[in-house]
Amino acid sequence: MKPELDRRQLFTLGALSTGVVAASLAEPAFAQGADAPADGPSAGSAKWDMKAMPFPEKLKNTAAAGISPKTHEEHYKLYNGYVTKVNEIRKKLAQLGVPDEKAGNQTYSAIRELKVEYTFALGGVKNHEIYFNVLGGQGGKPTGEVGELIEKAFGSYERWAADLKQTGMAARGWVWLAHDYAEGTLFNYIGDAQNTFPVWHATPILALDVYEHAYYYDFQTGRAKYIDAFLKSVDWDAVNKYLAVAKAVAQAAHK
Ligand code: FE
Repeated sequence: MKPELDRRQLFTLGALSTGVVAASLAEPAFAQGADAPADGPSAGSAKWDMKAMPFPEKLKNTAAAGISPKTHEEHYKLYNGYVTKVNEIRKKLAQLGVPDEKAGNQTYSAIRELKVEYTFALGGVKNHEIYFNVLGGQGGKPTGEVGELIEKAFGSYERWAADLKQTGMAARGWVWLAHDYAEGTLFNYIGDAQNTFPVWHATPILALDVYEHAYYYDFQTGRAKYIDAFLKSVDWDAVNKYLAVAKAVAQAAHK
């Protein structure tokens, strides 16, 4: 089955790390209603309400490798929770209005708490959308351009997979294979939470969730077996679509 990445999901990926450059390539992130205010998201406008992506039916294909439909169904509920929180925080930020000169405080202030947890909620949305989109395929050796870039960056698919697996064993939450447009190469980045260790200009093209909720039901504490199952279920067509966005950003950046 062909992956279904809509323009928002593809753009969201580009926007995650490339901001202005990506903005010239596609429509604005979360612009399902368009007419975004010039001064940024105003949660007073329902048009800025984020909508959850539909449950990808192709996730059922991972059952053969050992990741059950039940796991994905429960996981999808968690993802929906992040979407709800993104919208809730956007509304609260809008309600704060224009900050006065005493609004900000680094120990505790409403603006601080909202902005910190906004990155956690939004990261939770973006990370899971990539994760769900890149699962449900045939796994194994990559097809298309991503296969060539993996060989170039890691020497071979096997070395990349070994690095991904051990990065996953070392992580507390996430691993991302990302394309850095400044360096033009791929790297397996580590993430302990939804919002930790992002690197600017690196656009994720594959996400591996290693929180226990992603595998405990099927593998109990056997995270290594879960990562093996993940590798058997990667949808390389979807990864190549994300790569196409990353490459377009890279091309624009180097003009
Ligand atoms: Fe998760």
